[in-house]
Order: sequence, then structure tokens, then C-alpha cells
Amino acid sequence: MNRIHIVSNRLPVSINVENDNIELIPSVGGLATGMRSVYKEYNGKWIGWPGLPSDELGDNLKTDIEEKLVEEDCVSVHLSKEEIDLYYDGFSNRTIWPLFHYFAQYIDYEPQLWDAFVKVNQKFADKALETIEEGDTIWIHDYQLLLVPEMIKSKKPGVTVGFFLHIPFPSFEVFRILPWRKELIQGMLGADLIGFHTFDYQRHFFSCVRRLMGYEISFNEIHIEDRIILVDSFPMGIDYDKFRDAATQTFQKPLQEKSKLHRELEKYFLVSPNRKLILSIDRLDYSKGIPNRLQAFAKFLEEYPEFIGKVTLIMLAVPSRGTVEHYINLKREVEELVGNVNGRFGSINYTPVWYFYRSMPFESLIELYSSCDVALVTPVRDGMNLVAKEYVASRTNRTGVIILSEMAGVSKEMGEALMINPNNTGEIAQSIYQALTMPLDEQRERMIYLQDRIKRYDVFKWSSEFVKSLRKVEKLQNSIY
Ligand code: UDP
Repeated sequence: MNRIHIVSNRLPVSINVENDNIELIPSVGGLATGMRSVYKEYNGKWIGWPGLPSDELGDNLKTDIEEKLVEEDCVSVHLSKEEIDLYYDGFSNRTIWPLFHYFAQYIDYEPQLWDAFVKVNQKFADKALETIEEGDTIWIHDYQLLLVPEMIKSKKPGVTVGFFLHIPFPSFEVFRILPWRKELIQGMLGADLIGFHTFDYQRHFFSCVRRLMGYEISFNEIHIEDRIILVDSFPMGIDYDKFRDAATQTFQKPLQEKSKLHRELEKYFLVSPNRKLILSIDRLDYSKGIPNRLQAFAKFLEEYPEFIGKVTLIMLAVPSRGTVEHYINLKREVEELVGNVNGRFGSINYTPVWYFYRSMPFESLIELYSSCDVALVTPVRDGMNLVAKEYVASRTNRTGVIILSEMAGVSKEMGEALMINPNNTGEIAQSIYQALTMPLDEQRERMIYLQDRIKRYDVFKWSSEFVKSLRKVEKLQNSIY
């Protein structure tokens, strides 16, 4: 069986160095979980940045880290502070991220960022080329590495290359804005299989390939001279059983083992048994529609004053990209809005919005998912949105309602959610009312369908389907030669 290697910006471990002692801490995120099963099963390596700027490490420490990573079959691409600044914070997060999320006004067109992006992509490709052999398969991940597929294919054409984009792919009219639009498409077309979360992203990609490069497309194949490139959608899933099992255990824990948050929530319900909780969890990112959500919540309290004192919005905003200007401004805007809503509708014993600017451990997320009556998921653009899936998996009693933006990739799999346009605060306010007054039978009816679907296509199914398609395209290519 051919080896399958993974390439992504970050390795699936973080590194803790204390008194020359190196500790590897495995990531628990969905992608790491799904991919670990792949590269371990197929004897591959994982190539990526270990998370520490290389100029802060001495040569000896760098070698020690590399040796330690070998134990985990990981290969490190060392990046300096300047490279991280220009390639990651720069072109990836200040150019591609806003472009692909339709925030054209935020795009940074600095050529210096582009140059660094090319250089660092080449660094990842070189490291991968050193590691892999002709006949192997490689699966490259996400928008930071859009050029790597071509960089590998041009040097080792016998390697089967897969690429998966974890964010939206924008429509041609938006994508064409970028000065380096052709280079990005060319980079992606080095792959034999290109995967997106939804059919819409796939359609947008095809239209860019056709209009910018003039290549022929037939069904889901792109034909370029003697190559066939397969393009398909693979909606990424979660580790469903992990969330369901953790939620089941949460309710069985004895009081002394419960977290402070859980005890606080229980105390809250004791004094206010009829109060309802609405949950909002995201990285603090402008694509997530957090200001709209707060405005809609205020509108809801304004239009339905009978709910003042009876419903609380728990808003968890995880710090993200805090050095980028638009994120700093967003933080300020969100804090002001939280202050406004609380000042306007709060009282001595009622705080309408509980706002947390931090990340929370897995146990606390589970406690929040399983205690909140409604999940409010209103991104203005989102490639997928795993929070919505995690909420569904954690509802062991099958109640709970999701209010979901039609601009999130996950909306394609969640027809039973209350669907909203995130720019329509009136519609969101109405949906909050509908969610809070929805009979339990109806909640269960919707949730059963949602759970069934999200459980079936979990992160393991997602990765195995992608691998299956990689094998298929490999055969297709071989049949041509
Ligand atoms: N998450 C986390 N810690 C937190 C809050 C959220 O690890 O304090 C996780 C959450 O469980 C989810 C991920 O962050 O798996 C967010 O993924 P999503 O697809 O919703 O958005 P992204 O941040 O990837 O744009």
C-alpha cells in the first residue's frame, strides 16, 4: 500500500521547552484527529511548522526538536519570525483570508507579502520533496499552502498529490480581484485531487479555472494535456462519538468532579429555573458575524420585552490573530456592543450577555454545548463551521435548536436548523423567538435528523472518502500512461 504523507502549516503537536527538556503536546482539534488516523495507517510523515520561530531556537535545540519529532513521524519546516510575519500573518491572513471570505475592502495587496508566500511555500515543498518518494501519495492542507501542489508535481510527477481547502472558495468576480489570481490557480492545479467542503466552492473554482486558464472541464474533471484532475466536495466532519460520549459523562459526574463553570451553571438554573441560555462560540474573526449577532440579540429583547430577565446569551470569543489591525478593531467593536446590550437591558440581577474573551478547555465546551437551549451560529462567511456540528453531537437528550447562517458551509448539511441571512438582524431576532418557544417534540424531531447525518459523515469518514478518491485518481492517471 502506498504511503500517504500530510503537509499542513502547523504540525499536529505543539512544543513545550523547559530547561532544555522538550515536551510534545498533541493537538486535539478535529483536523489533527482525522489526519492522524490517515498518516499513521499509511506509514507516512506529517510535514509542517512546529509552532516556534526558528530564530528563537539555537542550532542544538533545533536539532533536538527535530529528533523528538521523529518519534511522532513528524518533519519540521522551520520558519523565522519574519517569515511567519510575512507569509502567515501577512499573505495568508491579510490577503487570502479576506479575499476568500468576501471582505475585499480588507485585502492587503503588498507584493512583499506575495514574495514571502512563494518563498515559504517553496520551503514546505522542498522539505516534502526530501521526505517523499515517487509512487507515494501526499495530502496538502489549506490556504497557506496553495502553491505547494504544483511545486511538488513539477519535481516528482509520479507522486499522487491531494489538496483540501478548509475555507470557502469565492466566486470568480471576487477571486479575479487578486493580482496573483493565475498563480494561485496554477499552484492548486498541481494536485491530482482537489477537495472543497461544498459543491458551491467547487463550482466557483471551476469557473475560475475556465475563465482564467481556459482549461476544459467535464463533470468534475479538469483535463490538461495528458493529465486529469479530479475535483470534488467532501464536507469535513467532527469526531462525533467523542463529543457525544463526553456530553453523556458530563451529566453523570459527581458534584465534586464538576468544573467551576458547570457548578455555576447549575446554581444559575437553581435560582432561575425558567431562564434560557443561548450559546455563541467562535474565534474572534470578522467573518463570524459577531457584531450582527449582538445587534440581533438586542433587537430580540427590544421586540420581545417579556424575555428581558429570562434569557442570557453566553458569548465565547476566542482570541485570534491579535496583531492584525482589523482584528484589533473588531475586538473593540464587540466589547462596546456587549457593554451597550448589558447597559441597556441589564439590571442588578440580570446580565443579558455573559462575554468571555478566552479559549476554554474541552470539558467546558461540552458543558456549554449541553446546557444551552439554543446555538446562535451567524457567520457572514464560513468554510464549514464545526461548532454547529459539535453542538448537535453534544445534545444527548435530543433537544436544542440551531439558528444557522446560510453563508456557512455547514448549512448544506443542516436543513433542519432555523436558517437565517446573517445581515438580516430582524430575521435573526424572529428566529431567536421561534427557537425559544419551539415545542420540545419539534426540537427532537429536527435534532434526530441532524444527529443522524452528522454522526454518519464524521471526520474519519471524511478522511477515508478523500483517501478513496486519491486512490481512484491514481488509477485514472495510470490508465492514461
Ligand atoms: N474551540 C476550542 N476552544 C475554544 C472554543 C472553540 O478549541 O475555547 C474549537 C471548537 O471546538 C471548534 C473549533 O474551535 O472545533 C472552531 O472551529 P470552526 O470550524 O467552528 O471555526 P474556525 O475557527 O475553524 O474558523
